[in-house]
Amino acid sequence: MFRYNFEKKIRFLMIKYVLVGIFFLNSFLFGTVTLFEKKWSKGETFLTFLKENKIPIRLYYNLSPENKELTAEIITGVKYQILKDEKGNIKQVLIPIGEKLELHIEKSSKGYFINTLPITYEVKHRILETNIDSSPYQDIINLTNNRLLANEFIQSYKKSINFKRDLRKGDKLVIIYTQKIRLGEQFGNPTIEASMIETKGVKHYIYRYKGRYYNAKGQEIESFFLSQPCKYTRISDRFTYKRWHPILHIYRAHLGIDFAAPIGTPVHAAANGTVIFAGRKGGYGNCIIIRHIDGYKTLYAHLKKFARGIRRRKYVKRGKTIGYVGTTGLSTGPHLHFGLYKNNHAINPANTIKISKSYLKGSRKKEFLTYIKKYNQKIKIALNNNIKSKKEKSFAYYMKVKRDNNLSL
Ligand SMILES: [Zn+2]
Repeated sequence: MFRYNFEKKIRFLMIKYVLVGIFFLNSFLFGTVTLFEKKWSKGETFLTFLKENKIPIRLYYNLSPENKELTAEIITGVKYQILKDEKGNIKQVLIPIGEKLELHIEKSSKGYFINTLPITYEVKHRILETNIDSSPYQDIINLTNNRLLANEFIQSYKKSINFKRDLRKGDKLVIIYTQKIRLGEQFGNPTIEASMIETKGVKHYIYRYKGRYYNAKGQEIESFFLSQPCKYTRISDRFTYKRWHPILHIYRAHLGIDFAAPIGTPVHAAANGTVIFAGRKGGYGNCIIIRHIDGYKTLYAHLKKFARGIRRRKYVKRGKTIGYVGTTGLSTGPHLHFGLYKNNHAINPANTIKISKSYLKGSRKKEFLTYIKKYNQKIKIALNNNIKSKKEKSFAYYMKVKRDNNLSL
């Protein structure tokens, strides 16, 4: 009984504490332990990881279908932590899945168990104000060490400003944004709440409103959007990063939308892009990943088979048939698992599946104009006070972020 309560307490503390807290607790309880930080290597799967580290593979086979899918979400290059005792035996492993969750393996007296824990992070509100010196892209990186912020800013203005033609040295920009900080380092995608860039004496504004970007007139900035990837009978599971299960006392996550559809239903590319993966991917079974513009990727899983000619490096247009609905990888019934990623982090596809851009009118526009007032005020203050953003350390975990050469000066 004592033992049970003791373990329960540790589990509770683990959920509350950040990584450091967990490891501190363990080194205190179990004597000398050593922490190793490693990078998930290319081609490594959760199964090969278990085998290599002599952890029983039943840990994988006993997982729920949802958690099997999660193990297929581990990104090549992601930093993860292993805690070993003085004999080199694994005590704990923490592997990040996206921005909000991590897989946690622990060895207790009863053997290994696995669960998912929420990643603990802080959200920092930042304002950046600067005169453009070399290019907006480079200046933002120099001031913040945040390549993702620079990309996001440039992408949001690429339809309205010709950076090469319109910008002059000394033009101004302001960005109001939030950034997740974990263990003192930036991680995950920044969210730009509002921004302004002044060129030739004209101020251009963009605001994030209900998850999309709009200009000062309430016209949506056309950016990335997706079309429906297949005809479906119903949505059998929605996107969730963490949902606390009140009975099982675990966090559930599902990083995509499940479209239930008969076996053989054609699956279409949701936007133009290049196939970067077509093969088997752990719990996802037969899986296709397509890379699109602006750091977006889409994932199509559990396919019965691929369409003819679909392979790596193949460019596909929106609507092109790339495969067929199946039930490979796991067997909860035929469905398409459809995932969307921005800079390798899963986001909800439901907010992005749409036909065209919107123009706010009437009461919706009124609401929007009220909403943006506080940002205009903040931008004004930033311009008057020369607010420089805090330069953070670089990112907490490796992400491939490509510089888009067409977009900077
Ligand atoms: Zn799914």
